[in-house]
Amino acid sequence: MDTSWESLLQDEHQLEVLARQAVDRALAEGVLLRTAQEPSSSEVVSYAPFTLLPSRVPRALLEQAYAVQMDFNVLVDAVSQNAAFLEQTLSSTIKRDEFTARLFDIYKQVLKEGIAQTVFLGLNRSDYMFQRRLDGSSALKQIEINTISASFGGLASRTPAVHRHVLSVLSKTEEAAKILSNNPSKGLALGIAKAWELYGSANAVVLLIAQEKERNIFDQRAIENELLARNIHVIRRRFEDVSEKGSLDQDRRLFMDGQEVAVVYFRDGYMPRQYSLQNWEARLLLERSCAVKCPDIATQLAGTKKVQQELSRVGVLEVLLPGQPEAVARLRATFAGLYSLDMGEEGDQAIAEALAAPSQFVLKPQREGGGNNLYGEEMVQALVRLKDIEERASYILMEKIEPEPFGNCLLRPGSPARVVQCISELGIFGVYVRQGKTLVMNKHVGHLLRTKAIEHADGGVAAGVAVLDNPYPV
Ligand code: ADP
Ligand code: MG
Repeated sequence: MDTSWESLLQDEHQLEVLARQAVDRALAEGVLLRTAQEPSSSEVVSYAPFTLLPSRVPRALLEQAYAVQMDFNVLVDAVSQNAAFLEQTLSSTIKRDEFTARLFDIYKQVLKEGIAQTVFLGLNRSDYMFQRRLDGSSALKQIEINTISASFGGLASRTPAVHRHVLSVLSKTEEAAKILSNNPSKGLALGIAKAWELYGSANAVVLLIAQEKERNIFDQRAIENELLARNIHVIRRRFEDVSEKGSLDQDRRLFMDGQEVAVVYFRDGYMPRQYSLQNWEARLLLERSCAVKCPDIATQLAGTKKVQQELSRVGVLEVLLPGQPEAVARLRATFAGLYSLDMGEEGDQAIAEALAAPSQFVLKPQREGGGNNLYGEEMVQALVRLKDIEERASYILMEKIEPEPFGNCLLRPGSPARVVQCISELGIFGVYVRQGKTLVMNKHVGHLLRTKAIEHADGGVAAGVAVLDNPYPV
């Protein structure tokens, strides 16, 4: 069977015709974004960018990523409950990184007052690239894990139909049947529903913290719709609304506009610019409440790049997951090289190595949302500046993953269909629910493949760089 699409991509006319059909199907399926011009309105919308064809992914790596997801769920949950580990790991970072320091400050306040929350919900997405090996095979390497606002589970549920459509148009029926079904939004909603149920108040709602200007609203609506189908009501509010109309009663139950809140689901609050002073106060109010926060502040901190780097240190996984050597081995197999930049010999050596071979490293600050990492010459300049000052501890260094590029056609509104050399990033969605000390749910609920042109070092779909894709297992 011909699983190489490359020959198809050479015929410009065919490409245009196919692209038009693909876009119409994407619109019909609801693979949508609001426009950059009107991000607060759904009056005029367009399709979310996507690849014309699915991209090949080794089946074994897909399976490996799925198999390790429950381990990552357990690991994130363990880190979030380990105050000593979080404190020690982030101590140098919070001295120099104001955003992480603010989050940590809220964490400390909540710990001091006593955690009112008894049910915990994690909705995360672990992201990977496929490192090309010398022998031509590939290895699964984790890029990062997103513990807050992990997105595109909704749209990723709708893209398989688009790629099946394109392959069917090409009379590639057998190939079309190989596109995996995928429904992360349902799985994510089931996690929220479980947490809502355990909270145990039939009239309580789910509070989705969102921005007013939200291009990716249809992705969020997919989860809202799943919840409503289970008679769980979702209210969308901004941090500003919380500070004006949110309150706690004497048992620290959270009320919003007079309605009790069982679960707070953050689709905002992961970047510095999303917080005014007022918004920080609203975040603190939410964290102090007994509502199930997804994520709670500790779990957000567990998703920082500094924590990721410390987890890769020899012996750390064994301490966090005692008696689970198999889980430890599965997790460690996905770790790329990660290096601390704390002051001292270890950090000095990492910097020297990165300066000697800049193309093999990425410099990462404690930020989410794409476009923050530094590569190549920019990384070199930053390292030279940071080399001798404590600010360097707010960054980590990471081995740069080099996947094997392939050709695909990226479709985005306003741009002609064009074939470019691409690389992909695979994300697996994980869901877990814990009540007190008991893990009552732990599963993987689907995947997201994002593909971008090789000339972009950084950035996801929301950042305008990557596009939605589907794995074609080979
Ligand atoms: P963010 O939290 O901003 O999403 P990431 O760590 O996911 O930060 O990095 C953003 C993007 O940069 C990734 O989607 C990926 O394309 C690229 N990237 C990050 N780390 C690496 C790496 N180690 N090797 C190659 N590319 C990377
Ligand atoms: Mg990322």
